[in-house]
Amino acid sequence: MSAAAVPAFTPETDPLDVIRWAVAEFPGLRMPSAFNLNGVILLDLAVRAGYRGKVVFVDTGFHFPETLATRDRLAARYPELSFVTVNAGAHPDDGLTAPDLYAADPDACCAARKVQPLQAYLKAHNPPALLNARSRDQASTRADIPFVEPGARVKVNPLAHWTRERLEAYAREHDLPVSPLYFSGFLSVGCWPCTRAVRPGEDARAGRWAGRGKTECGLWAGEARL
Ligand code: SF4
Repeated sequence: MSAAAVPAFTPETDPLDVIRWAVAEFPGLRMPSAFNLNGVILLDLAVRAGYRGKVVFVDTGFHFPETLATRDRLAARYPELSFVTVNAGAHPDDGLTAPDLYAADPDACCAARKVQPLQAYLKAHNPPALLNARSRDQASTRADIPFVEPGARVKVNPLAHWTRERLEAYAREHDLPVSPLYFSGFLSVGCWPCTRAVRPGEDARAGRWAGRGKTECGLWAGEARL
């Protein structure tokens, strides 16, 4: 898809309109999710906008139990959607990587446990576009993301312009099953060895790979991005 084919959305465009456009434009649209606050809200909006496709989660083997429980609560709440877990049942000693690779080389660990499994899934199913929950105010590295990133596999980011306050208000208003970790300061949750609670004044993703010079897992940035 070329940039010229993207509607003239503005920052005020309702995310529902962005999702409705994506659903109509891209049969086969799929939604990867890690079930963070943004992901939970995108799921709810997507159902309201008519999305009835798959929600794809990669089990790295290092997820918090609360994350897996949130996935299961969402699957029960939205029977219209089909939840897929790639590498279901993964665990630290499964031999996919050395159990402590996350400490020695987190880029290699993310590549093996998260990026490559999802890339393999996408290669097998070849969706034309992905619905993604990133928003600009999550981190300075995401400050410029548009509603639509054209390319061979289009990324549609309906929440690009929503602030954390707006997301939290939406979750409250709709009584969404946000992970309890969020309310303990884990504003962005990845794997347990690589996530800490956020401190006052930090951005939402500051607790991810803190102190390791790493800010993204590689799904949405870097050479192997989706
Ligand atoms: S977040 Fe940490 S444990 Fe999870 S895949 Fe990446 S490096 Fe490994």
